[in-house]
Amino acid sequence: MPKVYTNATIYTGEGDIEKGYIRFEDSIIGIGKMEIFEEEEADEVVDAEGNMIIPGFIDVHSHGGYGVDNMDADPEKMNDMINKMLSEGITSYFPTTITQSDEQIDACLRAIKEVAEANTLIQGIHIEGPFISKAFKGAQPEAFIRPAQLETLKKWQKASGDRIRLITYAPETGDVSEFEDYCTENDIVLSAGHSGATYEELLESKATHITHLFNGQKGLHHREIGVSGYGLLEDDVMVEMIVDGYHISRPMVRLAFKAKGADGIQLITDSMRAKGLPDGESELGGQKVTVKDKQARLADGTLAGSVLTFIDAFKNMIDYTGCSMLEAVKMSSTNQAKEFKLDKKGQLKPGFDADMLLLDKELTIKQTVLGGKIHEFN
Ligand code: FE
Repeated sequence: MPKVYTNATIYTGEGDIEKGYIRFEDSIIGIGKMEIFEEEEADEVVDAEGNMIIPGFIDVHSHGGYGVDNMDADPEKMNDMINKMLSEGITSYFPTTITQSDEQIDACLRAIKEVAEANTLIQGIHIEGPFISKAFKGAQPEAFIRPAQLETLKKWQKASGDRIRLITYAPETGDVSEFEDYCTENDIVLSAGHSGATYEELLESKATHITHLFNGQKGLHHREIGVSGYGLLEDDVMVEMIVDGYHISRPMVRLAFKAKGADGIQLITDSMRAKGLPDGESELGGQKVTVKDKQARLADGTLAGSVLTFIDAFKNMIDYTGCSMLEAVKMSSTNQAKEFKLDKKGQLKPGFDADMLLLDKELTIKQTVLGGKIHEFN
């Protein structure tokens, strides 16, 4: 039976509909202004007056939350964790791995494959490390960092059931040309991150995406703009940003938005196990992490992922930059869907998946719709 939200302000990812309706089953059947809405007999109408509807969020970089890390390689717990992410507006998720042994990453990928076969939230996998730079390791455990190895990546891609769509690597760490060719031929986006590559090295690389811009790379330097500068400057390069107020200062978020615009940024959470839990001790990549005041840190003070929810990233971006709802939607969903060829996601239009959020005026999530199924919150 088709459901219809009526009288809502709808941000489609391409434009705004001020007073509109959206009719859907598992995918979107129709969308438009209320003036042209005609109720059909089978319609189940939900009056959404005073509320907003936007596409569901797509998080391409997150290690875990709610007490679980993808690296636990526990399919049942992973499945529960991912379903909890619906409460923060995530309707597509790329489970992200961390630098560990080949065997641990392999076990994690097998667990993800098992979950993904039944849970449509998983739309890809992000491999973060181990093919990165020790000098820019951040919270990635140094002992397992090593040069890029194509055979290992091929083995992992097989273990995942061909779900790897994004890999964080340091292009300066050796001859990566074959590795890069395999990725571009197999729809794996190459993301420079945890890298000290120079601008020149990046121009020679095939990197088209930057992992958590400004973090795990040199800061912007006026004579060597490095990974951050390459990401900011190059139009065909997409940058991830952790907008939690701690990983990047507010003025730098504004500066990046000014340089890239809403079409060049993807909000991520980079969340770890402790998201959704009270302050205290936690873990990332086998290392002890302390969570206090919304920050997760290693013993030496290094930020160790975040405890950011996606809806908070969305709100922060609007707050820090003054961007429009439509621009925030692009950075949370539309850009990700386009880059990773999620052809039926990231926009609200007929034929697309009914993945969307019903928000009130304060941007509180009232409902998350996944494949047409409504999950009620608040
Ligand atoms: Fe990282």
